[in-house]
Amino acid sequence: MRDPLADLRRIAFLLERAGEKTYRVRAFRGAAATLAKLPEGELAARAGNGTLKDLQGVGEVTARCVVESLAGEEPVYLRRLESTAGQDLDEATAAMLAALRGDCHAHSDWSDGGSPIDEMALAAAAIGHEYLVLTDHSPRLTVARGLSAERLAEQLDVVADLNAGFAELGMQFRILTGIEVDILADGSLDQTDELLERLDVVVGSVHSNLKDEPDVMTRRMVTALANPHLDILGHCTGRLITGGRGTRPESRFHPEQVFAAAAEHDKAIEINSRPERLDPPKRLLRLALEQNCKFSIDTDAHAPGQLDWLSNGCARAVACGVPLDRIVNTLPAAELKSWTQSHK
Ligand SMILES: [Zn+2]
Ligand SMILES: [Zn+2]
Repeated sequence: MRDPLADLRRIAFLLERAGEKTYRVRAFRGAAATLAKLPEGELAARAGNGTLKDLQGVGEVTARCVVESLAGEEPVYLRRLESTAGQDLDEATAAMLAALRGDCHAHSDWSDGGSPIDEMALAAAAIGHEYLVLTDHSPRLTVARGLSAERLAEQLDVVADLNAGFAELGMQFRILTGIEVDILADGSLDQTDELLERLDVVVGSVHSNLKDEPDVMTRRMVTALANPHLDILGHCTGRLITGGRGTRPESRFHPEQVFAAAAEHDKAIEINSRPERLDPPKRLLRLALEQNCKFSIDTDAHAPGQLDWLSNGCARAVACGVPLDRIVNTLPAAELKSWTQSHK
């Protein structure tokens, strides 16, 4: 028996991974969500009498996929996607990817992501991750619906419930709590100390005043790296190299000083795998490696399919000669947490 909803979600995942437009992906995720709410037996009945399309959010294509799936066949739409979705990774990149146990930077629909926490988590578990660090935005990033202290506290309860559910199902997978906290103009972090203290992993990123003078930007980043709450410095140059948001040059800072601060405080520099970021550029990645920095290879996923972008970061890490023992997300969850705890 095929599960038609799983097929729809798999299609959405593959479309996201391929960087397709959100509305196309949403058609499949939306249909799956609608159909999941139908009472027992109604899905099969409607597939039989051709009335699936009468449901809100179910179109011709999604209805056809469901019918094919219920008949026990792989939907044609899915088969085409699967056959063109293969990623040709070289051996070294594939080995690094296999060594990563999780992802330390991902968003849900609580901030600017497109999917609920549980869908992000299930997708991460399905690709073999042991953990996913949930890092929604902080309050000042209002354009990305950053979480207030109250909402973050609420999210921690939701995550605890989801993890209890995974444990009950006998799954090894866990969501780790986290945040992508804004590094403010003075280098301080945009969330209360009390909450930052409670989180498993804190990614800190610059999202404002990206054109600060190099001295100012350097001081800002060095101050943030010295903050005991911060564990990982996110997309350090802020550059955008392609894509719908246009391009943006790198922020200017003194990389030797920033990487020296990261190494001194045993913090990680993120290798951001988003195709429009690929941050840091390789020359800075090599410099950070020479300066004994640790790294975290992250997707910064805003949708489940984007969780598969880790290979982008791995390819760059391999090209720059980053060894596995410098990459914090090769650690099992317990050791990753001991590392972040050691900063406090
Ligand atoms: Zn960011
Ligand atoms: Zn992010």
